[in-house]
Amino acid sequence: MMAFKPRIASRELKILRILNTRMELTADEKKHYFNLKKGYEGEVQFDLLTEQLQNECYILNDLLLKTGNTSFQNDTVILFQETIHLFEVKNYEYDLIFKTNKLVSFSGKEYQNSLDQLNKNTLLLRQLLQNMGYNIPIKGYVVFINPEFTLYQSPPNEPIIHPTQLKKFMKKFNSLPSKLSNRHKMLAEKLVSLHQVESPYTVLPAYSFEKMRKGLTCRICNSFKVSIIGSGSGSSGKMFCNDCGSEEEVDSAVLRCVQEIKLLFPVKRITTNCVFEWCGGAVSKKKINRLLTKKFKRIGHGKYSYYVSE
Ligand SMILES: [Zn+2]
Repeated sequence: MMAFKPRIASRELKILRILNTRMELTADEKKHYFNLKKGYEGEVQFDLLTEQLQNECYILNDLLLKTGNTSFQNDTVILFQETIHLFEVKNYEYDLIFKTNKLVSFSGKEYQNSLDQLNKNTLLLRQLLQNMGYNIPIKGYVVFINPEFTLYQSPPNEPIIHPTQLKKFMKKFNSLPSKLSNRHKMLAEKLVSLHQVESPYTVLPAYSFEKMRKGLTCRICNSFKVSIIGSGSGSSGKMFCNDCGSEEEVDSAVLRCVQEIKLLFPVKRITTNCVFEWCGGAVSKKKINRLLTKKFKRIGHGKYSYYVSE
């Protein structure tokens, strides 16, 4: 079953990935970035399982909803005929111990109890649905997706899906009888329309165009150690990564640079010069110019021209 609302990496995660590559983040900023990244990777792992569901359902990934003044993030929501299933996905890789109000690592570090978070989200979603005139029961689960994770002292009667139980759980889930009607579709559409694009919790480090490290980077491992070969007659050449060995068309690497600039500096004008600078001078202005003209719409002429998406 294809997701009705697909998951995309948040703007925050995309920006942090670039910042982590092109500037020195503080230890806390780095930690925050890696936690976000790991969380996202766990959710994508879970998507691979929900995509295999064969029964009639609507899968809504990554719904940021709001009821009253409270925003709440739902990793995965699945609409079935009689029930809405809500999943809180956790990608912890270090073992934790279950305590009443928290999860604790073996070194004593405390984490929020995922069940509390799930219960809070379930309550808020129920409230939202009731306000919309829907009275569908909600079933919530915490999914620990990382196969190397163990939760010690886990209470057996709570809706916790351990890595070892996932396969069986999904199989059972897949056998739930479900027939969807137009009413379900309307609800799915309504929920997607309520999705808040910008999270109120986003806090980004300060950054500027000037202070950022310039150059082409590998799309797989973010390394700056890339070389361009085979450019010339008609072809823009290929870029090879000396760290991980992956390769990419130079044009595509330059276009990624354009996307980076647009994401980090939404009001900055995309000019040949600024892209040239961002690429660290690795690609000639002539080639950048040709590429931008091909892919974007040029506004103005000569020195002052800039490019916008068509
Ligand atoms: Zn690489």
